[in-house]
Amino acid sequence: MSEGARPLLGRLESIEVEGLAALREAEDEEALEAARVRFLGRSGALTEALGEIGGLPAADRPDAGRKGNEVKGLLEKAHEARAAELRREARAREASQRDLTLPGRRPFRGGTHPVTRVIDEICDIFGELGFTRVRGPEVETEWYNFTALNIPLDHPAADVHDTFYLDEGVVLRTHTSPVQARVMQAHEPPVRVVVPGLCYRRDAFDASHAPAFEQIEGLAVDEGVDFIEFRSAIDHFVRRFFGPEVKTRLRPDFFPFTEPSAQVEVSCTICGGAGCSTCKGTGWIEIMGAGMVDPAVFEAVGYDPERYTGYAFGMGPARIAILRHRIPDIRLLYEGDVRFLRQLAGPEGG
Ligand SMILES: [Zn+2]
Repeated sequence: MSEGARPLLGRLESIEVEGLAALREAEDEEALEAARVRFLGRSGALTEALGEIGGLPAADRPDAGRKGNEVKGLLEKAHEARAAELRREARAREASQRDLTLPGRRPFRGGTHPVTRVIDEICDIFGELGFTRVRGPEVETEWYNFTALNIPLDHPAADVHDTFYLDEGVVLRTHTSPVQARVMQAHEPPVRVVVPGLCYRRDAFDASHAPAFEQIEGLAVDEGVDFIEFRSAIDHFVRRFFGPEVKTRLRPDFFPFTEPSAQVEVSCTICGGAGCSTCKGTGWIEIMGAGMVDPAVFEAVGYDPERYTGYAFGMGPARIAILRHRIPDIRLLYEGDVRFLRQLAGPEGG
């Protein structure tokens, strides 16, 4: 070994001895951190000594470098080992302080999402009127999503700005109505179905819109189904869902697949009809679109429009959940934040 490296090698050796002692004997995390800073820190003793290796004559550098790395490895290992020991000791202390006689905290095991609960309730209420729950595909052809429902492809609803196109003539359904056409093609009347499911539109994701949202539709077709039956079915639903004191009114509207069409409004469940911010001072809240099925729809699916009549309705379960729970922002229903959802969750699942 050359003479030039001797003083630095000596220093590295004392750093090794002192450093190992300080790290191994540190009494707590604070002392351990102080020892780490003193030897391994940016201006610690070892770091400084290593910095001096570059100033040695070239022939002395390899020996000093080897020794430096060896000391660094030893100190780092000692630090790691002592840190693990201190963590174990802390855990053991904590465990010995635990009060095992305290009653346990029950973990939240999950429950039914507020929108799912609304859907289930709506299906159950229409079930009392003889409606069956059915489902259909979320990927649809333009024919089922628009044409069969009397919506021409140049209608604003069919516009590419509103619709997710997957391929030429293939879309993510923009409403659950195509399932009506599928059910009518597959079954002769009488038909009474409720159709819940996800729909997709190229809407902004904001306080009142989501690009993927639940919808639920209903369809009744038979001989002699008239406006009176339609009206009483809607009344039955509103009283059962919102309460016997809630009133219903229909306001004329336009939908391509119903004629006449109506907006169904209920007396405001917040203010009872006196006027508040939820009902924008009108005392009424719109909950669904509905109407008598347009004969053109029957023709498209092969029903005899002279023989059969029917009604259809559609609503947004998220909107209804929002009204029921006074939720200020629809996005809360999609974020999956358990702190929010557990407040509204239905019966817990197992
Ligand atoms: Zn109100």
